[in-house]
Amino acid sequence: MSRRASVVIIGGGVTGASIAFHLTIAGVRDVILLERRTLASGGTGRSVGIVRQLYPTAETSQMVVRSLGVFQRFRDAVGGESGYVACGALIGVSPAMRAKLEATVKLQRSVGVRAEVLEPRDLARVEPRIDPEHLGAVLYEPDSGYGDPTAVTNGYADAARRNGARIEQGVEVVAIESSAGRVTGVETATGDYIDAPIVVNAAGLWSPAVARLANIELPILVGRHPVFVVERDASFGRPHLVYLDLAGGSYARPETGGLTLTGSLTDDERQHPMEPELLGADVGLDEAAEVLERTGRAIPRLAEARYRRGWAGAFDITPDWMPILDESPLRGFWIAAGMSGHGFKLSPAVGEMMAALITGATAPVDPAPFAFGRFGAKGSSGTFVASYLG
Ligand SMILES: Cc1cc2nc3c(=O)[nH]c(=O)nc-3n(C[C@H](O)[C@H](O)[C@H](O)COP(=O)(O)OP(=O)(O)OC[C@H]3O[C@@H](n4cnc5c(N)ncnc54)[C@H](O)[C@@H]3O)c2cc1C
Repeated sequence: MSRRASVVIIGGGVTGASIAFHLTIAGVRDVILLERRTLASGGTGRSVGIVRQLYPTAETSQMVVRSLGVFQRFRDAVGGESGYVACGALIGVSPAMRAKLEATVKLQRSVGVRAEVLEPRDLARVEPRIDPEHLGAVLYEPDSGYGDPTAVTNGYADAARRNGARIEQGVEVVAIESSAGRVTGVETATGDYIDAPIVVNAAGLWSPAVARLANIELPILVGRHPVFVVERDASFGRPHLVYLDLAGGSYARPETGGLTLTGSLTDDERQHPMEPELLGADVGLDEAAEVLERTGRAIPRLAEARYRRGWAGAFDITPDWMPILDESPLRGFWIAAGMSGHGFKLSPAVGEMMAALITGATAPVDPAPFAFGRFGAKGSSGTFVASYLG
């Protein structure tokens, strides 16, 4: 069977759903999103959903500020729920990182981020359960917090449907067709052909494999990032703030039901390449113990928390830990991938940016830092921690 669309989006995670919505808002008709399993069944459904605003470049900061505004008024802006909890976020840095933090915060304030650098001794005023001992300073972002990536994906997909897009689940793209250097459409596993002048690769951890269907190599490595869930002791009291401990190498974010999600901030994802199909697999207790020890040093009361479960997550990582949002060398074949662990918090702005680039409208933020060709012959130099402070 052969069908026609003006744009085919491959991947029904938060990125693809946001792009579908923003294309319909831009007036594009006949948008089809194809998801091989169910919406949010990839990295999106395994995400921790933290929204922090500390980024080292003006463009990424602008993207996160725009996105935060959408999470805060998601029901009016999109429909549905973002599950956004503005509990506030704290980012602890070592004494050596303090100067960089202060310079970055200046830049941040200039693009509208509300943030304050606290002395470690003043931390107790905001969150007394964090140990300030090893810290050189703490950044306090009162508007930051966490949201629900699956709810946001469903909100965007429902809104895109209401605006006329077709969202098809259980449909895997197995071939990308092209002619004379231009994409012409896709073939699905059921032998369906969809003719389309524009195809968007929003396949997250699978984006390198999807790009290879079009003979395009993406500089993206899939690196393992496990997450652990612990149950706080009843005496812990009110939930803690989101805490990102860049000095000690862990993070903790509260979850309903007295739970905390925690994991590493040690920049080791690139050293642990992972098969995307292993997403969601169980994690070993040894691995959990090592991370929980670091979390327990950062928030000592969490050292008493009971271990509940863990899962293997993974990031689609580019050499500079920033997304690729651009057309590929195959005309009409666009890439929105390589989210490098930031794909939830940037998703509203990524959809807005991709819709503008695809329709030729003015981009909401300078797209140059997200260009496909920016890596050139340079090797990999970025780190996750550098994606906070440069
Ligand atoms: C453990 C973990 C913690 C994270 N924590 C945070 C955080 O705190 N804050 C934050 O901002 N970000 C975080 N992230 C990152 C963020 O969640 C991801 O970047 C984002 O959800 C990725 O969304 P996506 O739509 O790009 O990709 P995905 O959600 O992976 O979606 C891609 C989709 O493409 C589909 N697909 C693949 N191949 C095909 C094909 N051939 N045909 C059709 N469909 C296909 C897949 O089934 C999948 O559903 C985290 C990620 C993980 C895994």
